[in-house]
Amino acid sequence: MYTIREIFYTLQGEGAQSGRPAVFLRFTGCNFWNGKEEDRASAICNFCDTDFIGIDGSFGGKYNSKELVEVISSLWPDMKKGKPYVVCTGGEPLLQLDDELIEKLHLKGFEVGVETNGSIKVPNGIDWICMSPKNNENIMVHSGDELKFIFPQTTIKPEDFSHLDFSHFYIQAMDGPDKDKNLQLAIDFCLNNPQWKHSLQSHKIIGLR
Ligand code: SF4
Repeated sequence: MYTIREIFYTLQGEGAQSGRPAVFLRFTGCNFWNGKEEDRASAICNFCDTDFIGIDGSFGGKYNSKELVEVISSLWPDMKKGKPYVVCTGGEPLLQLDDELIEKLHLKGFEVGVETNGSIKVPNGIDWICMSPKNNENIMVHSGDELKFIFPQTTIKPEDFSHLDFSHFYIQAMDGPDKDKNLQLAIDFCLNNPQWKHSLQSHKIIGLR
């Protein structure tokens, strides 16, 4: 069984796939923070802006792979239109995403993307790998499609990852109380380090989830 926080259809807001319609499959749980505010300061990752605890979001629940693929498919408007795309996110989706679910999604016609913190090896067959390191120097994901660095962070810097085998390198300003300052820092970093492109959280600007 997979424990799912929420499933929803929207436009991808970030990175190289920005603007693409996608079903977001948010798994519960993360290995970098337990999601409790009282434990945030001592977590590996202490700037999380995602609610990944509980199963009370839209279409949240516990599913087997067949049930889960049915729900995901029901949210895509027409399986014959466009390339159906599902983004597995979290929390840390690789705590739960496995070969069985990937295979069933492929059989149904979905392209499968994942957004991971890079601490767990990616199963074979994922079509789009987005890795976003979060204060973790020891990563298990050394190649993929896009590396998205939330900027700035205290213990790691983009240059620690610029040698890895990714097609796109993105800098995205950290949201929160310092977001305006972080945006300027992110812009300046890209201008001075043109290997890196700037990623906006466009879904927040246009009012999508
Ligand atoms: S790794 Fe991602 S999901 Fe986990 S606490 Fe950090 S930002 Fe949140």
